[in-house]
Amino acid sequence: MRDVIIIGAGGGGPVVAKELASRGLDVLLLEAGPYWRPREDWTHFEDDANNPLTGYFRFGPEDRSRPAWFREWAQNSLLWQLSGVGGTTQHYYGNCPRAYPGVFADYNSPDRDAYDVAHRFPFGYAELVPYYEWVETTLPVQTAAMGTKEATFLGGAETLGVPVQTTKDTTGHSYRPQENAILQPGGNAARTTDTDSLRYPKATGCTMCGYCFQGCMEPVGAPRNLVAKRSTDNSYVPMALTADVWAPQGKAVTLVTGAFTTEIHTERQGGELVATGVTWRDVDTGEYSREDAHIVIMAAGCTESPRLWVNSGLPNPNGWVGRGYTDHHFDWLVGLFDRDTGSSKGPGSAARCDFPGYGGLENVGLPPGLQAFSMTFSDSGIRGQYTNGRGMTGPWDGPAGRLLGPELKDALMNGVDRLLNVIPITDDDVEPDNRVTLSAFPADENGPVAKVTFRHRQRSARTERNREFLVGKAVELLRGAGARKIYRLDWGALILHVQSSMRMGQSADDSVLDANAETRWVRRLFIADNSALANSLGGPNPTLTTQALATRTAEKIFQKYFGGDPWVAHESPVVATDSRISRAMIDRGP
Ligand SMILES: Cc1cc2nc3c(=O)[nH]c(=O)nc-3n(C[C@H](O)[C@H](O)[C@H](O)COP(=O)(O)OP(=O)(O)OC[C@H]3O[C@@H](n4cnc5c(N)ncnc54)[C@H](O)[C@@H]3O)c2cc1C
Repeated sequence: MRDVIIIGAGGGGPVVAKELASRGLDVLLLEAGPYWRPREDWTHFEDDANNPLTGYFRFGPEDRSRPAWFREWAQNSLLWQLSGVGGTTQHYYGNCPRAYPGVFADYNSPDRDAYDVAHRFPFGYAELVPYYEWVETTLPVQTAAMGTKEATFLGGAETLGVPVQTTKDTTGHSYRPQENAILQPGGNAARTTDTDSLRYPKATGCTMCGYCFQGCMEPVGAPRNLVAKRSTDNSYVPMALTADVWAPQGKAVTLVTGAFTTEIHTERQGGELVATGVTWRDVDTGEYSREDAHIVIMAAGCTESPRLWVNSGLPNPNGWVGRGYTDHHFDWLVGLFDRDTGSSKGPGSAARCDFPGYGGLENVGLPPGLQAFSMTFSDSGIRGQYTNGRGMTGPWDGPAGRLLGPELKDALMNGVDRLLNVIPITDDDVEPDNRVTLSAFPADENGPVAKVTFRHRQRSARTERNREFLVGKAVELLRGAGARKIYRLDWGALILHVQSSMRMGQSADDSVLDANAETRWVRRLFIADNSALANSLGGPNPTLTTQALATRTAEKIFQKYFGGDPWVAHESPVVATDSRISRAMIDRGP
């Protein structure tokens, strides 16, 4: 019998694993995908990495000759969620803004009604700040390294008439460098492109290679916990696997990969339904294993956590399991420039603007294949050919829609380094009809599969208003930066940031979790992934908040079920780059 079983080693699960194991609990971490070895398994070939069906970054088993795991998308959309240790943080850009204070219960400033007021967090922002600080120190989060694309973006942002933001707490319209979880360049890094000089330890941190999307493996030769991008495979998982080495009371987490959890077990105890353990299926052999635990934590992500809940036959009395799947209602604008924008270099996205009450803007740099993809994914049809009934026109150039033929060629013929991408990240409302249910397609080997439904064109009026506001700001920014042409893509639902499908909430009528992230209907069952978030945070990227919340959840579990003392207010965290972890990972890494 384990103390704790955690399902999923993505953005949230490893955080709880590391925190509880470092306090002496016996933790089993189950992950459906593999623990990749970057230098052996990964490349900079874009299709090899990013193809959602056959790439190494997909939702599927390690063996790429086998099909990806199926999900039904009921509309024009793409779910970019990954399996493997690190989960979708293997793709992520490491941007770590905090949520806007306006989305929390106690917010009372004059703009308090500008947010999703019906779906606030059930506690105050100030309560989460020490947990933010804990995670920011652990990863660590630092001011992003910047280059030409950020100079271009920030130059445009200067023309918007809003101030530079200098604190981590965002309450007003502003712009700034990102705070991100990518180690700043040290030694030769960012000073040369000579591969010999860029080996660890001559180079440390980000080498500005521009391939964050395909899994960070820089600099060559760095111990796993010193790899530049702090996806959890490089940060919290190394800490969890070596907790016995660096934490005085610590116990190393047991990580099982290729372990697809298919059922959560419960029983009635004292009139309450209580989680008692899980069954998982070995992805390679098809064998089932069962283990029991005092506490079960779901961290399988916004799509798989609701699927597993339903497949386990757990109760859903208010119907909110899987509902409220928010996605920052992204759009995409591309500016064409007559000068070098450095779009392919450095951390993928190192500058931002914030517009609390509406959302934010970020710059995004991409390698060529993804750049072409980003300009061909639209809900508005093909520019100049057909409009899908949208016919959107505005301050950008020509109709919205995807580029084809001569226009696409014109945009890409000088390489990606004459472009600047801006992504509006909308503060979207929690909407019950955007949701996960079970698909009517046949079950796969892990049970009935998930169907993700978005009413993409019927968002709330506030969500639509916010997106149009941000698109207007993006156009203004690109013109201010000197773009000669601006395209609006009007993206379909591209699910990169996703939140709230098993949300915590102030009301038991529209939430699955209480304020401690324990499920309302099954005791000893907690959730520690993005699905636990109460709302879309006002627009900021979600992972830091999920990790801060997961840290708080770990502390609540330790106090309530293991008689432990809280620690965040009284201790300083060990940093994930600690040399004891580096040494131990040489033996224990994948
Ligand atoms: C291109 C891209 C860029 C991004 N950039 C940023 C960024 O800059 N900043 C930011 O904050 N966010 C970013 N994100 C989002 C970020 O990746 C997610 O917020 C984060 O990974 C979510 O964590 P999670 O734990 O909810 O889910 P995931 O990270 O998806 O992890 C879920 C894990 O559970 C596993 N799993 C699922 N089902 C089971 C099961 N039944 N049994 C066992 N294991 C299971 C999966 O294999 C997976 O490893 C980005 C995403 C993408 C795609």
